Order: sequence, then structure tokens, then C-alpha cells
Amino acid sequence: MLYHHHIARILHYSGISALARRLLVQKGCYILNFHGVNREHYPNLPPLAQTGFRVAEFEAILLWLQKRFAFLTPEEALSGQKSGVLLTFDDGKQNNYTNARPLLEKYEAPAIFFISTQHVLDPDNWLHFVKSRALTGWDSLEEIPDDAAADLYRGLSAEQVRLCAEHPLITVAAHTVSHPLLTTCDDRNLKQEVSESKATLEELGGKRVDWFAYPNGVYDRRVMKAVKNAGYKGAFAVIPQKLGQAQFEIPRVDISFSHSYYLDAKLSGLFLKPIRTLKGSPE
Ligand SMILES: [Zn+2]
Repeated sequence: MLYHHHIARILHYSGISALARRLLVQKGCYILNFHGVNREHYPNLPPLAQTGFRVAEFEAILLWLQKRFAFLTPEEALSGQKSGVLLTFDDGKQNNYTNARPLLEKYEAPAIFFISTQHVLDPDNWLHFVKSRALTGWDSLEEIPDDAAADLYRGLSAEQVRLCAEHPLITVAAHTVSHPLLTTCDDRNLKQEVSESKATLEELGGKRVDWFAYPNGVYDRRVMKAVKNAGYKGAFAVIPQKLGQAQFEIPRVDISFSHSYYLDAKLSGLFLKPIRTLKGSPE
């Protein structure tokens, strides 16, 4: 069944989403995928130039989740023993630390931060797609005021990665160096993107990095093998292709809106099945 806003509203207001969730999502968990959390909304900017949630929207999502799900640690979520939600944030924007982290603390919600290390080595060398989105709002990157740049686009600093690594709620994980589509990389480049990001984060955080997320959720058998060979315990996708290694194609639910009818339908079990276990034979 395809998700649609109109259908989601009907399911929400009729109580079907909530009923379905009680029936279909008693056991198992959802791993949710977020990106940026901006301090504010900039009325003069096009939506593409400010794709993250605002702080207030992100808090509304946490409040909605708190009433319906337990917040799980990565270990709890992946063990299949507990039901609830695990939060993940992709790309390593500074606003994950400055804006999302205080709310994770307030709601005691664990999270994985999947960090592209180009950001950390040079926080103002934004990822390629971030630059092109920023340019939908300004004529040149130099034009962007420093406070907007920090709020919307800047990467985590090395010091912030260290603080994340020692934070009890945050798990530091890898998301390549420069965020390429890994299926288009040659073998050498693929290996470098996967291994170098792990090594950099381990050095900065002083902790082993066990988890990886594929940029744009894109992977194939060759990519999956390279990630496994680099020493990761598992990798997160969005929609799994079911290539036979559940631990290296962990499904996630992309959260794009904060409306309660959207969350209610999306996490009802009607559109996406919760994860029950990652073990067992290929499906
Ligand atoms: Zn990404």
C-alpha cells in the first residue's frame, strides 16, 4: 500500500491507524531516519534550502513518539527483544549536536549519528548535495550569513564528534567520507570511503565504530561486501533489497513530516512492517 497524505488523514481521524498499531506493532521496532534539525525557519528561503525539521517540529515528533513507543538503544533495537523506536540522524550536521542533542537528553532518547567525515575534517566544506541545496536560496555560498550557515549546513567539528562519542545517549557511526552513491564508486574509492570514515571517527571519538549507513540508502552486493570487509558489525539502509544479509541491510523509516496524522499512519504497521529480528535465513 502506498502512503498518501489524504489517506493518512482518513486513517488518523477514523482511529484506524491507532487501532492498526495496537494490532500490528505490539512487537518489533522501527528505526527512524532524520537529517537536520534547524534552530529556525527562514521565511525568505525556498524549502529546498532548509530541508531539516525546526526544533519545535522535532520536539513535537519526540512528544508524539514518547506517548506511543519506548525509545530504544541500538543494542535493544537490533536484538529484537524489545519493541519501540530507535532514532538515527544522517550526514553529521552540526545542528544534530547543537539542536537535536538537547532534545534527545530531555526525552532520554538514544540515537545513532551517521557522520560523513568530510564535514568533520572541514566543517564548511559541505557535502555536494548540501551545497546545491544551499544554492537554491543564495546566488553563491559566500553570500550565506554565518548564523544561517551554522544552523542549516555546517558539519560537526572534531570536538563535537568527541563529545558525541562520550555522550551516553549518542552512538557515533559512519556515513562515508564524502557521501557518494557507493554503487557508482570503483573498488578503490569504495574501500577508501568506507574504511577511512571508520578510522577517522574512531580516532576522533576514541571508540570503536561498529555501524554504517549507506548514503541515500543505495547499495548492492559489492558495496555490502566492502562494508563487511571494513570491519563493521552492520549497515543501515532505507528499503532493504533482501540480498541475504539482514544485518547489512537494516531497514529504516524516513521521517519527512511532523504532522501527527503522518506519523500515525507511517508507524501504524499498515505501510511498513516493524523489524522483529535481523537474524535467521534470507527472506
Ligand atoms: Zn546521507
